Amino acid sequence: MYPLIIDGSRGEGGGQILRTSLTLSAITGRPIVLENIRAGREKPGLMRQHMMAIRAATETCAAEVTGIALGSQKVTFRPQTPPKHANYTFAIGSAGSTMLVLQTILPILLSKPASEPITITLEGGTHNPMAPPWSFFVNAFVPVLRRFGVHLDAKLIRPGFYPAGGGKVEVTLRPSSTGLVACDLLRAAGEVELNSVVEIAKIPSAAGKREHTQAISLLGQVHGKTLDRRHLETITYEDALCAGNIYGVRAKHRYEDAEFAEYFVTFGERGLSAETVARDSCEQFLRWDAAGVFAGEHLADQLLLPMALGGGGRFSTLAPSLHTTTQAETLALFGVAEVGFQERGDDHFDVEVRRLGARPPGTAKGGEETARRTL
Ligand code: ATP
Repeated sequence: MYPLIIDGSRGEGGGQILRTSLTLSAITGRPIVLENIRAGREKPGLMRQHMMAIRAATETCAAEVTGIALGSQKVTFRPQTPPKHANYTFAIGSAGSTMLVLQTILPILLSKPASEPITITLEGGTHNPMAPPWSFFVNAFVPVLRRFGVHLDAKLIRPGFYPAGGGKVEVTLRPSSTGLVACDLLRAAGEVELNSVVEIAKIPSAAGKREHTQAISLLGQVHGKTLDRRHLETITYEDALCAGNIYGVRAKHRYEDAEFAEYFVTFGERGLSAETVARDSCEQFLRWDAAGVFAGEHLADQLLLPMALGGGGRFSTLAPSLHTTTQAETLALFGVAEVGFQERGDDHFDVEVRRLGARPPGTAKGGEETARRTL
């Protein structure tokens, strides 16, 4: 098969195009040549966490790879086998985000239903800025995966705050009779149950208390409900290697017969007051709440791939980010899905994901039902 040439500087132009391309190459069996990797970034080319994502994807499909080196802007990736179900362990070796490596390989392993449990163990950063933190993964992403028919257990064994890292997580996929299913996630404005969540390590607890106080003052009355002391959670990590603080607003909501949550986080930083950190998360929540959509900015770009593998569907979201539109373009480039965006109102879009023909070698082609339910 001739390779697909992918210009890594397209659209958002960062690590996401690289990860998604590896994932889709492993799933479809289509070799790729990635050029201009992260060309517009301050430090262009591969960083450690991207190299780890390539190695992880390589293990799943015995790919032949060239170009893995720090700063490399060109990589070729040639899968030699269909995705293999096995237990995997990846030690990222720095505070590189375990969640971004998981983002790369989870869809590969989900692309065919498991017949035995599969455990993925990852060591590195679990709470990294500019990546999905563990708390977003378990609170917002896992419920969506369950709705797609995935049976999954996720365990934080040790936290890994940036910059020291040293965290460990374990994700076990359990066999499911359905495989990934198509579904619509079109929540309109409705009831939400709010929690103010402080995650803190090796920092005086006063910072967390100030974050909670700020949330009570900004979100005290939403939908006629009161956010008060009963809705405050503080998670103190005694075993973190370095100091860290993440502030989150969790908004649980029901859609059809299932419970979901959006989770809006902000990372505490030196020089940023606790009030500013909490305000940022509260403002992310208020934007999402005013729009009355299912997915906030980050969940939207991460939903596209599993939805495409599950046979398609629709979800409502905010005005799409560049990550989301780039993800849509990458799915189209591989012929896996076509994504349409329809503006429904102020900051409210419906996204339709329509499955196209590209399938991994060896997957049954017959039957609409098969195509809708499994890859
Ligand atoms: P680069 O360094 O080239 O920008 P990267 O490899 O670090 O790239 P991105 O390409 O920017 O990463 O992708 C980051 C991913 O992390 C996206 O899927 C984005 O939605 C997700 N993400 C970033 N911040 C959050 C957050 N606060 N909550 C949930 N997900 C997040």
